[in-house]
Amino acid sequence: MIIDFHCHVWMEEWLPEPFWQGIVDIFAHMLARHGMKLPKEEVRRQFFPAFWDPTAERLIASMDEAGIDRAVILPLDYGLTLGEPPVSIEEQNRIYAQLAQQHPGRLIAFASVDPRREGADRLFEVGVKEWGLRGLKLHPTVGYYPSEEACYPLYRKAAELGVPVISHTGPIIAPLKSKYAQPIHLDDALVDFPQVQFVAAHLSFCWWTELANLAGTKTNLAADISGWQLTARDHYPFFCQTLRSFLNSAGSDNLLYGTDNPAYRSLISDREWIQLIRDLPHKAPEGISFTEAEVEAILGGNARRILGLSER
Ligand SMILES: [Zn+2]
Repeated sequence: MIIDFHCHVWMEEWLPEPFWQGIVDIFAHMLARHGMKLPKEEVRRQFFPAFWDPTAERLIASMDEAGIDRAVILPLDYGLTLGEPPVSIEEQNRIYAQLAQQHPGRLIAFASVDPRREGADRLFEVGVKEWGLRGLKLHPTVGYYPSEEACYPLYRKAAELGVPVISHTGPIIAPLKSKYAQPIHLDDALVDFPQVQFVAAHLSFCWWTELANLAGTKTNLAADISGWQLTARDHYPFFCQTLRSFLNSAGSDNLLYGTDNPAYRSLISDREWIQLIRDLPHKAPEGISFTEAEVEAILGGNARRILGLSER
């Protein structure tokens, strides 16, 4: 079974405009670096329509194409800091829950709420108990540390409800702030809530060594590898070395496949990303080895355990 532990379903009205501006800026910046100077309005016109997927049809189609059985969809709550989008975070959580209901056995939806919102823990609880959400996504880059007191009512609920918490880690585009996303800031929560399974998103990108050591010294921290697909494609030896080092420190049962789509879908297909992982046992450079069992665990076995899914 292949499980994408980290993706999103996007609509323009679901997220604040400054976030989209940040995406336009970084796309334009990266294109210019590759010798393609495009006006920002043009970047928006060319790349954005492919993001919009209010019914999750595009997501399901790309899962089918790549052979992905299930995907965890994560709402994002940036509103308190970046300005409230036209669709409220409560409504978004509800929409995500409905998408999961409309695609049973394919989509698993998490809740997302900024812990500094009044009634955040209540929204999380209602989302899980009444709407069928299966975990919590935090995005501290809007200006809080995941170790802050404000987060604790949510962790208490996660413990009570028996669901995992995934937190963004690693540097991120403006106007979001990277310093809140260093893996070390998860440490208090890991210690104070040993019964909660935490997941650090994106293998913390450049902070992966800190994450590997943290995950290796705690019993309740895993990581997803979403966002690494271009590194894997363009710098395969480095990718293999990084993964091997992480697995050596943190254990083979703590790494989860993910895409962070729709962000990367236009740049590399899910099929190619999965193949890069499947190739690890026979294409890793001399001196670095992976087993088929590790590949199976990364692609789905570990996620199945964390999500409490049955074998089939
Ligand atoms: Zn993401």
